[in-house]
Amino acid sequence: MVKHDAEAFHFPEQYDPLPELTDEVDRLWHEGRNKSALDVVLRSLRTEGRSAQAFGWALMLLRSGMRRTPDLGVVEPVTQEQIGNPYFAPVATECARCTKFWYSAHAQENFENLVLSNPIGLQCQVCRYSLCRNCLDSRNRNCPNEGCLGELGAPVLPTGRPLGKPANPYTEKLEHVLILWRSTPTSQDEAEELLDLACTWQERDGITVRSQVNQSDERDGEEAERRMGLVLAGLYERHGMISEDGLLQRTRVVPIQSPGRGHRLVFVTAAPETGVASQLSGPVTYLLFDEPDTDDEDRPPRKRRWFRRGR
Ligand SMILES: [Zn+2]
Ligand SMILES: [Zn+2]
Repeated sequence: MVKHDAEAFHFPEQYDPLPELTDEVDRLWHEGRNKSALDVVLRSLRTEGRSAQAFGWALMLLRSGMRRTPDLGVVEPVTQEQIGNPYFAPVATECARCTKFWYSAHAQENFENLVLSNPIGLQCQVCRYSLCRNCLDSRNRNCPNEGCLGELGAPVLPTGRPLGKPANPYTEKLEHVLILWRSTPTSQDEAEELLDLACTWQERDGITVRSQVNQSDERDGEEAERRMGLVLAGLYERHGMISEDGLLQRTRVVPIQSPGRGHRLVFVTAAPETGVASQLSGPVTYLLFDEPDTDDEDRPPRKRRWFRRGR
C-alpha cells in the first residue's frame, strides 16, 4: 500500500519559533497586506529552507487567499501565483484523482474540536489518499488506494502535490541559471518564479541568473533551442562566468510554459562539488538583458539592447 503524504511537511508538536519572521509577517498581516506577508514567508523558505514556523504562517495566509468571500480588511490579497507556488506544495493537500489542491484548516489546528461543514475534500485516515468534493463518491467511503482498508474522512492533512507539482529531485547547490525567452522578455519577478519552479529548495545563494532572447528558429523545434542554450552556457564558461569542469553534466534544461508570457527554456547549472563556485553566498544577481558583465561602476549602464536575429 502506497502512502500518499510522502511529499508533505509534517508539523512537529513543538518547534523553534522564528521571531524575526513572525514580527514582520504579523505586522503586514495586521495591515491587511497578505500578499507582502506571504512574500516574506516565501523568502524565508527559499533562503532558510523548510520550517514549521514559516509553513504555519503560509497556511494561514494561503487559506485566507482561498476564501470565496473577500475579506474587506485585506488591502493586498494573496495572488493565484502565490497559491500555486511549489514552495508551498508541502503544506497543500492534493486530490489523487483530479490534482485539484487546497490548503486544509486541519493541518495545524486542534481538529478534534473542529466542526466540519461542507469540506473541500476527504482523506483516508490510514494512507492519506485524498479526494476533493467533486471526485468523492458520497455513497462509498472506502479508501480507493489498492490494498488499503482505511476510510475517507477527516482530518485532512497535507499530502504535498505529487501529481501536479512533484518535488524537485535535485538537491545540489546552484551556480548559474540561464533563461531563454521568446516574445516577452523576462522580468525579475518572473525570473524568481521560474527559479521557484525549476529549482525548488535548491540553494541559490550568490548565483547569477541571466536571460536572453531565444535566437533559434521556432520551426527548428525545441532540440535546436536546447542546443543554442547549451552553446551560450559554454560561452559563459569560456569567459569565466561559469566555472569549468563538467558544465554539460552539471546543466539540465527545464522547459516551462509561462502563462501569458510564452515558452521559456531554463538552463540550470549546479555548482561543482569543490572550488569557488561551491562556496557562493550572498544575494542572487539578475542580469536579465544582454549587457556586458562589468565591475566598472563608473561606466553608465547600457541601454537595453535585445539581440536581433540575423537573416
Ligand atoms: Zn478531485
Ligand atoms: Zn487508504
